[in-house]
Amino acid sequence: MENIRIVLVETSHGGNIGAVARAMKNMCLNELALVAPRQFPTEECMARASGADDILQEASVHQNLDEALVDCSLVIGASARLRSVSWPQLDPRECAELVLQRTVSGQVALVFGRERTGLSNAELERCNYLVNIPANPDYSSLNLGMAVQVVSYELMMASQHGSRTAPDTRELAGAGDMQGLFNHLEQALEDIGFLDPRKSDKLMRRLKRLFYRAEPDMDEIKILRGILSAAQGRKSARRE
Ligand code: SAH
Repeated sequence: MENIRIVLVETSHGGNIGAVARAMKNMCLNELALVAPRQFPTEECMARASGADDILQEASVHQNLDEALVDCSLVIGASARLRSVSWPQLDPRECAELVLQRTVSGQVALVFGRERTGLSNAELERCNYLVNIPANPDYSSLNLGMAVQVVSYELMMASQHGSRTAPDTRELAGAGDMQGLFNHLEQALEDIGFLDPRKSDKLMRRLKRLFYRAEPDMDEIKILRGILSAAQGRKSARRE
């Protein structure tokens, strides 16, 4: 259960952060990252943590999501709604299986959204996969602490039973490296006259999905960026 970071984005209620800390400690997780929390720390937060104060004390606080994810080679976003843009999706059990394969070689993040509005589309696009907890289609949004509980419980179960598949030990690209590739790709497509600015969002979304699915390692990222630089007519790889 090492190398698993629970990331909460712009949580409104301190009490929910406390409930998340408790759920995490119950399930042997200890790394909490808060992105621009509205209220933290509060008395209610401490009370709801109920003995999991150590997780709150060690929690890292970030200005934005990129900062919280920069060293992560696998990012999974929890979403109550299935979005119109199809993005690779997992249920909590599949999610646990995948996460435990990856923690051997790198840092993994599970990202949870705001109480009212969840995660934005842009934030979901930063994720390699989405995890959805099956629920009543007419009432599918769980309380934040409950959602973290369910996902963490599956991790705990999977870790006890041992992973069914061999661990993946390749050095996969981190979120920051993937972002660097996307920026370079967008620029290169513009430079070679391929990108129609009116359709660039849609195209970039499709391309991101493709590259996330491919899960490139660092050598592959370097090769791709070398190709982009060559297409741009430059010798050395472009920096972000
Ligand atoms: N009203 C929001 C839900 C907010 S609940 C919306 O419709 O998106 C707060 C967070 O808990 C969500 O952003 C998500 O990360 C998690 N969550 C709640 N219900 C979930 C579910 N059924 N599956 C996966 N994550 C869920």
